[in-house]
Order: sequence, then C-alpha cells, then structure tokens
Amino acid sequence: MYEDIEEILFNEEEISRAADEIAFRINRDYEGKHPVIIGVLKGSFIFLADLVRRLDIDFTVDFIKASSYGDKTRSSGNVDITYHISADIRNRDVIVVEDILDTGYTLSYITEYLRGFSPHSIRICTLFDKPGRRVVPIKPDYTGFVTDDLFIVGYGLDYNEKYRGMPCVGVPKTQSKK
Ligand code: 5GP
Ligand code: MG
Repeated sequence: MYEDIEEILFNEEEISRAADEIAFRINRDYEGKHPVIIGVLKGSFIFLADLVRRLDIDFTVDFIKASSYGDKTRSSGNVDITYHISADIRNRDVIVVEDILDTGYTLSYITEYLRGFSPHSIRICTLFDKPGRRVVPIKPDYTGFVTDDLFIVGYGLDYNEKYRGMPCVGVPKTQSKK
C-alpha cells in the first residue's frame, strides 16, 4: 500500500516518544488549568488524538480549518478560515495543534484570527517544523521534530489525501514541494 515511499524518516516508536515528551511538557505547563486545544484540520487529527490521550489535565478540544490559495508549490499569505471554532476562547488558554509548520503563513493567520477573540494565552504545538522554509517569523512553543526541506507524508499528513493513515512518516517517491 505504501510501496512508493522513498525513505522512512520517523518510525512509530520515535513519533510516540515525541508525543510523550510534548505531553509531559504540556501537563507540566498547564497543571491546574483547562486549556482549549484547537486542532488544525485535517493534518493534525492523528497527532492530536495521540497527544490528548497522554494528557492528565482538563482540556476542551476544538477544530479549525484554513485554506491558503496561491500557486501549487507554496502556500501564500491569502489564507481563509473554512471551518471555525465553536468554543468560546475569551480569557482561555489556547493551544493550537498543527501537523507541520512550513512557511508559517497558515499558523500566523490562524493565531492572529484567534487573538481576535481575546484569549488569555495562545501557544503553538506542531509535530514537525521546517524552519528553513519559513517566510513569516513564527516559532512553535512545542515541537516534536525539526525536519529538512522535504515534503513528508504519513501520520495524518497527506499527498492528495493519500498516506494519512500510514503509522510512520516518510518521503514519497512523488517528491513534491507541496
Ligand atoms: P504553511 O502555511 O506553514 O506553509 O503551511 C502549513 C501547511 O502546509 C501544513 O499544515 C500542511 O498542511 C502543509 N504542509 C507543509 N509542509 C508539508 C509537508 O512536508 N507535507 C505535507 N503533507 N503537508 C505539508
Ligand atoms: Mg496542516
């Protein structure tokens, strides 16, 4: 099924350890608090599910979806929110959970949008970070892996909707820069 994966970069065990470490830090940082955890659809859904099962704090889960229009190879600053949160985040501690932080356009737009609802705090949690591709200066508060400028798939991340269910993360032979 996944025979067209060129190289596996992160196996299930490594990803599980990264989720453990991030959850450990969130449990510590939000002890006694009740954050709203906002998953960015669709790519974050598997990471979010694994992350929240490691939390021993109270939390609320919500989702947001954004599309960015531009050329096919790079996302652009023209971001649209296509699915909105339903929770009231005013005065709440918000953790935005993303699969991968690339140019930064999407997450900077989303965090600015969320700031408009006057939350008490906003932090960014991304499983993967590609700082070499950054256009907008945005830094995650929690990161699992810093990766090279390669298009990766698996564990929620897709290429034309394929590979989301792959338990590990790798580089498809159809290597494309998004
Ligand atoms: P940004 O606005 O930061 O450039 O875009 C981030 C979004 O682009 C991510 O949420 C993800 O959907 C997509 N993306 C960026 N890099 C990759 C990648 O290496 N693989 C996959 N599958 N999606 C990516
Ligand atoms: Mg995404």
